[in-house]
Order: sequence, then structure tokens, then C-alpha cells
Amino acid sequence: MPLQEITLQDIFIAAKSISSLAHKTPLVLSQGLSERTGANVYLKLENTQQTGSFKVRGAANRLLNLTEEQRANGVVTVSTGNHGKATAYVAGKLGIRAVVCVPDLVLPHKVEAMKRLGAEVVVAGASQDEAEAHAGELAEKEGLTPISPFDDPFIIAGQGTIGLELLEQMPQLDAVIIPLSGGGLASGIALALKRANPALRTIGVSMERGPVMVESLRAGHPVQLPEDRTLADSLMGGIGLDNRYTFRMVQQHVDETLLVSEEEIASAMVYALRVERLVVEGGGAVGLAAALSGRAAGPWQNVAVVVSGGNADMDVLQRLAGDAAGG
Ligand SMILES: *Cc1c(COP(=O)(O)O)cnc(C)c1O
Repeated sequence: MPLQEITLQDIFIAAKSISSLAHKTPLVLSQGLSERTGANVYLKLENTQQTGSFKVRGAANRLLNLTEEQRANGVVTVSTGNHGKATAYVAGKLGIRAVVCVPDLVLPHKVEAMKRLGAEVVVAGASQDEAEAHAGELAEKEGLTPISPFDDPFIIAGQGTIGLELLEQMPQLDAVIIPLSGGGLASGIALALKRANPALRTIGVSMERGPVMVESLRAGHPVQLPEDRTLADSLMGGIGLDNRYTFRMVQQHVDETLLVSEEEIASAMVYALRVERLVVEGGGAVGLAAALSGRAAGPWQNVAVVVSGGNADMDVLQRLAGDAAGG
């Protein structure tokens, strides 16, 4: 089957399709980051999105494009949390059966959230790969349609709707800083922005502990890395050795990648809470961390940082805030 080329039009169509399931999120000027960097730094608040992360955009676009038969049979997915929660939410709204397979490392509150939305949660395997194998078996056995967290044209187009909103909210944008894991978010946003303005700088940010996409870009092909615990748990997992879309799209549309340390992620989460009054999870804070570090910098006037999720474990966040206070 030839690979489908994802276009700007697909993203416009997605924006229209998903409007009742995902809302437009605010873009707000960060006084603190603007003072520190000398540019106008805007925060795209996907932590305020339905289900607490941008993942609902892609999930909505994917599930709305199932065939009648696929809709009737239900879907299965693998997720460390946010994609599962988003899929569960959308499936619940559309009356579709959803099974979510999660690896053992997933945080318990994320499993609870998915169950509350009506999904069937299966804890299976020590790694993302093992959970994926289990989901594959379930799909086969029960006729469920697998929903990729990132490597799917409908998912990518759904996440790309953030790019359209950024263009509308800040037409003079010079650069955008995007959290990067499987690359669905970065692929979609960067495609939308580069089509509008090829000079706009796109920067992907991953954590130092297990940056699979960044290592894959370095190698020139998808690679695997051992999993490691990180505050950015929503960025854990591989990109798939058989990656079809996002590796190539990130290669093509993301200009630069940066890595942030656990300390930088922790500081960014505490900064978000104390200064911006925002609850931001580790994976959602890596863009903030890059901006705060001064390493994501350039001769820019207007920069947007995608704050991709707010589903922080409150115990973790309180501990970090306490440590930062010198407690
Ligand atoms: C999934 C996720 C990301 C990364 O998105 P990819 O499409 O996998 O690159 C970033 N932040 C949060 C909060 C997420 O849930």
C-alpha cells in the first residue's frame, strides 16, 4: 500500500471534524519567559485541552474516520497514559468500545482516569513493545482496530490543528518549540507551520533519558533504546522500527532537536506552577525547560512553546515544589 501524503488540507479538514470533541486552546504571553529570553514567548496551553493533553485532537480525528464496521467492532490502543485517556474519552463520546493496553511503568492515576472514561484497561508487559504485542493479539482475536498514538495520517493531521491555531493566534510567529516523542505532535504542527511559512523555525525537545526520535534522526533510521524512568513519562516509548510517517516527517519539517535533563524538567514544572500558575506534567514541560535553559534561542521576536499536557501526578509535583523551596 503506498503511503499517504499528509497535506495542509487534511489538517484543515481535521480542524472542522474535531471541533466538537477538542477545543481551541489559549495562546498566552509569558511575562517571565519573555523577560528571561528577550523575545515575546507565548505558551500554547494544551494542558487546558479536553482530557488534559493535545492527544484528544488526533484521537478524535482518527475515530471520526473509522469505517462503519470498525466503529461497530471497537478499537484497541497502547498508551502510557494521555493517548489512552484521549482515545477513551473520544470513544466514550462516540459510543465506541475502547481497549487500552498499558505497560507496567504507567502511573496508576492515569490508569484510573482511563477507566473512569469507560475504557477497558489491560496492564500487559514490562515495556511499550510488550504491551504493543499484546494489543496486536487482542486486535486479531476480537476484531478491534489498532489506534496508533502517533504514526497515523489522521492522528498527525489532528495534532496539526495546533499549527493552524498558532498561525491564527500569532501570525508573526518566528519559532515554535514542541515536545517530541513519537513525533505525531511535531510532524503535524511543523507541517502546518512550514507550509504557511518555510522560514519559521521548528524545534523538537525530548528528555535525555531515552530520546528515541532524536537518536533515530542521528542514526538516519528508526532505532530502539532501553526504557528509563523519567519525569517526562508521557514521552516514553519507541517510534517503531517500522515507522511509516513521523520519522520521515520530523526529518523533513523539524529544523532542530534539543535534549533536556531531569533537573531541567523538574525546574520547568515548578516554574510553571509558581510563576505561570499552571499545572504541567513532565512531558508537557520539556519545551518550557528548553526555553528556560536558554538553549532554544535565536534572533526571534515571537516564539511559541507548546505546553502539551497537564496530567501531572500531584504527589510528584508537590514533592518537586517542596524540594525547590529548600524543604
Ligand atoms: C504524547 C505526548 C507528547 C509527545 O507527542 P508525540 O506525538 O508522541 O511526539 C508530548 N507531550 C505530552 C503531554 C504527550 O502526552
